[in-house]
Amino acid sequence: PQSMSSTVIQKTIEQAYDKYRSVTEGKNANYIPYLAKADSKLYGIAIVTVDGRIFRVGDAGHPFPVESVSKIFTLADVLHKQGAQNILGKVGVNATGLPFNSVLAVELNNDKLGGSPPPGNPLVNAGAIATASLVQGKTLDMRWKSVLDTASAFAGHQLHLNDDVYQSEMASNQHNQAIAVLLQSYGHLYADPSETVDLYTRECSYDVDAVDLATMGATLANGGTNPRTHQTVVDAPTSARVLAVMATAGLYNTSGEWLFKVGLPGKSGVGGGIVAVVPGKLAIGVYSSRLDDAGNSVRGQLAVQFIAESLGANIFSAQ
Ligand code: GLU
Repeated sequence: PQSMSSTVIQKTIEQAYDKYRSVTEGKNANYIPYLAKADSKLYGIAIVTVDGRIFRVGDAGHPFPVESVSKIFTLADVLHKQGAQNILGKVGVNATGLPFNSVLAVELNNDKLGGSPPPGNPLVNAGAIATASLVQGKTLDMRWKSVLDTASAFAGHQLHLNDDVYQSEMASNQHNQAIAVLLQSYGHLYADPSETVDLYTRECSYDVDAVDLATMGATLANGGTNPRTHQTVVDAPTSARVLAVMATAGLYNTSGEWLFKVGLPGKSGVGGGIVAVVPGKLAIGVYSSRLDDAGNSVRGQLAVQFIAESLGANIFSAQ
């Protein structure tokens, strides 16, 4: 297939940048002290194509905490190494329609007698914590290395823990600790709860920039092979499954609205990052820290929607 023209892609992201530059709606995440003080003026957009081209505008090289966007790469790691059945049977993949940190997600359809699969989704906290508990490795540090190595392979270079974010979240993650213990009480957590929450918190605390997000997304767009380094990070079936889960729950309780409006699998994080994937073509990464009530970057969503429309990228569209 003929690849999209570089001039068109660059022009489109510049238009998206200019169009929403002055939007000040939304608020920084306030429940994690480090995120509350992010510079909300920063705004960057990047696109990486499956043939390895990079496009960027604005603050696309500014690092920020990955937060929930990491959930897709940990899911990819567990799916790739342990197979789909483990995630289907031990975490669940149905849309919860609930806010990111909902405890109700653990309680839904809860079947104390066993039999029904857990009601979680790997992209909301409860299911993501359950997914983190499936990561293999003898020690916490080895499990963390596995998660970070996979994320780094997606990005095409070594990513690093932001220790200030990690400390800030460890001091304020009581809600996630409660979710982990609740999961454990139902037999839906597969490792020690405090170690699992520690691993989950580290996974939220590595830094990325918009170019990293676009590269990581482009690896999924490309069937699991990083289009910059040519490394096969996960196999193609894993990559397709991750995209399917992103379509069910990538934007928390507004995932349905997102798919309806944009028509692309996406994932957001409360750090202000968002990634959207056009399978077989490219991925878009955006950073802007102000969030809507569901926890999704306001300008990030606007920019992706504009770009998807301009490039005719909706996966449900016939042309
Ligand atoms: N570390 C955050 C939490 O678990 C991530 C949430 C998010 O990005 O949705 O509360």
